[in-house]
Amino acid sequence: MKTIMKDPVYSVPGKIISPQIPGQQVLKNKTTMKGLVYNGPGKIALTEIPIPIIIKQTDAVVKVIKTTICGTDLGILKGKTPSVKPGTTLGHEGIGIVESVGDSVRNFKKGDHVIISCITSDGTCEYCKKQMYSHCEDGGWILGNLINGTQAEYVRIPHADNSLHLTPAGADEDGLVMLSDILPTGHEIGVINGCVKPGDTIAIVGAGPVGMSALLTAQFYSPAKIYMIDLDDNRLKLAKEFGATDVINSGAEDAVKRIMSETKDGVDVSIEAVGSGPTFDICQNIVRPGGHIANIGVHGHSVDLQLQNLWIQNITLTAGLVNTNTTPMLLKTVVSGKIDPKKLVTHHFKLDDIMHAYEVFGNASKEKAMKVIIEMNN
Ligand SMILES: [Zn+2]
Ligand SMILES: [Zn+2]
Repeated sequence: MKTIMKDPVYSVPGKIISPQIPGQQVLKNKTTMKGLVYNGPGKIALTEIPIPIIIKQTDAVVKVIKTTICGTDLGILKGKTPSVKPGTTLGHEGIGIVESVGDSVRNFKKGDHVIISCITSDGTCEYCKKQMYSHCEDGGWILGNLINGTQAEYVRIPHADNSLHLTPAGADEDGLVMLSDILPTGHEIGVINGCVKPGDTIAIVGAGPVGMSALLTAQFYSPAKIYMIDLDDNRLKLAKEFGATDVINSGAEDAVKRIMSETKDGVDVSIEAVGSGPTFDICQNIVRPGGHIANIGVHGHSVDLQLQNLWIQNITLTAGLVNTNTTPMLLKTVVSGKIDPKKLVTHHFKLDDIMHAYEVFGNASKEKAMKVIIEMNN
């Protein structure tokens, strides 16, 4: 029996205030590791922190192999996510090897290679029974938010049986990292919520990692025409390589005018993958009667919803947080080579250079960065 105890506390950066209880350590000779710790708005540091331990019998501790930085992490750094308390290790994406499991974990054992889902789910609550894992009563988005995350050498995963995915041998590791968050997000909240169908004309506003994920996964459903709209010509060029049939730089031309002139009465589905007023506005002005607006973007402010125009056009508007219920399906498409998400990876860094990785990802346009991979030092 492992003792049940609370998370180690380490509110002072660089200082470890860790309970050392014999028999609880994951590793025999090592009690600390490196992790990227949030110390309040604008402040992060690679810090020596305690290696996580099994707290509940449903936990696993995973040795991280590769992780990445999400736009959400940049939002946390800007102080936009008050739920993240100083002292939290950031990161909610990654792949790794199971180091230890609690007595109740049935699906995973030490040595298993796994994808860490950005959403934790107990699999038993009312929301989980509806596959709404994002609202799990003992989970949801907690990694790198309410509990320590994946930008570290080890991470504790609660409800491991429902929150990890076994990866087959030989699969490309960089591509697998994209399954933690961005691929299911683009697929579920953009493509599935938007009801993309064969022959549709669709528009994706925002050619960042999530917009690109919507672009890759939309092609499962054979839309006839895919517009990609962004302000960055380099990203639009990539979008063309990834399957966009038409690209529009909305800084250089009026995207709404162009789409309304090239289509009969607009697009069947407009997907918002930025989270701003102007981009939402493009989406609501290009959707045809009976069409769908699928909002993926994280909005920090209210938008100007033109309901007086939309209601009479029978528009469906959806928004949401990823459930990751399609991750097992997406994993199969990645393993079979049906989609190749590793092409979203533009940069590689070692964990020791993670501060530099944040700089590069934070200046994505200038650095021509899409997704950055952080590999452990050894
Ligand atoms: Zn993310
Ligand atoms: Zn649940």
